[in-house]
Amino acid sequence: MSDRPLRAHILPGTLVNGQPATLGVMGGGQLGRMFVHAAQRMGYFTAVLDPDAASPAGLVSHHHIQTAYLDEQGLAQLMQRSAAITTEFENVPAPALRTLGAHRPVAPAADAVAIAQDRAQEKAHFTRCGVPVAPHAAIETPEQLAAVGDDLLPGILKTARLGYDGKGQVRVKTRAELAVAWEELKHVPCVLEKMLPLAAECSVIVARGADGQLVNFPVQRNLHRNGILAVTEVFDGNVPADLAVQAIAATKSIAEGLQYVGVLCVEFFILQDHTLVVNEMAPRPHNSGHYSIDACDHSQFDLQVCTLAGLPLPQPRLHSPSIMLNLLGDIWLAYNGVPPWDKVLALPGTHLHLYGKLDAKPGRKMGHLNITGRTADEVRATALAAAKILGIEPF
Ligand code: ATP
Ligand code: MG
Repeated sequence: MSDRPLRAHILPGTLVNGQPATLGVMGGGQLGRMFVHAAQRMGYFTAVLDPDAASPAGLVSHHHIQTAYLDEQGLAQLMQRSAAITTEFENVPAPALRTLGAHRPVAPAADAVAIAQDRAQEKAHFTRCGVPVAPHAAIETPEQLAAVGDDLLPGILKTARLGYDGKGQVRVKTRAELAVAWEELKHVPCVLEKMLPLAAECSVIVARGADGQLVNFPVQRNLHRNGILAVTEVFDGNVPADLAVQAIAATKSIAEGLQYVGVLCVEFFILQDHTLVVNEMAPRPHNSGHYSIDACDHSQFDLQVCTLAGLPLPQPRLHSPSIMLNLLGDIWLAYNGVPPWDKVLALPGTHLHLYGKLDAKPGRKMGHLNITGRTADEVRATALAAAKILGIEPF
């Protein structure tokens, strides 16, 4: 473990070492963009490090340092600009965060991010925290492949590192398929997980401060399609109440166990026998928390700002039932680049968030639509109407 992390206490709108109080973020994707929006609204300046000239966060930040994540000069510039630094991208190399963390408060810490970056380590952490995981086996050698128990089939072979949106995953029914799948994944270290009978999926987002203060969002119910989040529903009764309580308690213990500082999301499976199994965690705000921008009094990005700056953490309150629809590139392709936003925005309680990406590809997350309303039924009706306009399958 690294040395004790530096503590931040950075008030917005002040000068720090002669320059406006600036919060830095590693990664310039949509999560970074929404962090930047939240930080700027509070009065912070922002700095983004991302190699892409057109990165969604780089486009809206005061400073955009356009280098690779491990570029020494880039990291030095980010430190020179920023009073504290966070990450928006799970696969930011942990060594880059270690370098930054030696000189600036960094949240989350490199050690926590390193655990979340490795499915095997992450599962070991969940087990240490007493939270059940799917039956699984590490596959790093041909011997381990041969030793896999039949009870893990059918299963899903997942690369231990660098997977997202269902990438780096192959579903396998037999040992022969398993061997072919590992070959396809180029024999990188993997985890084989037993395919579980899911009734539903949910996630919980918490924010924890350096002083140990811990607050949580309500449980989100998530629908994935083709391994990609499609719909998040948040309102009373979205998942059985006893499982919601369990999921929140499990997430808090996972965060405590890491001495985590920042925003953490934990994804769960709800099995058909009404039990809860933890899937994975993301050491950052999460796609399933985007509804919080419009449906909560403090969004997950507001809380990311607070944890990074060392400000008090408000317990967020859901003030409106809400559904989020992810807007994938497929919609642009179906509408020749011009989805009918005017029709969607004519529906009550619709909030459009586009990430500034100009290049639509199938499965690419281009934006999301938050729907709020007075009741869950009303929100659902609007969400289904919006989905119909956009050619999103009903749910
Ligand atoms: P993310 O974009 O959330 O990082 P990912 O690529 O890391 O996704 P996972 O969360 O591991 O992938 O899996 C994606 C989806 O595949 C899950 O949300 C779930 O729908 C399905 N899935 C994964 N593992 C299992 C399992 N063991 N049993 C049944 N379904 C599973
Ligand atoms: Mg996932």
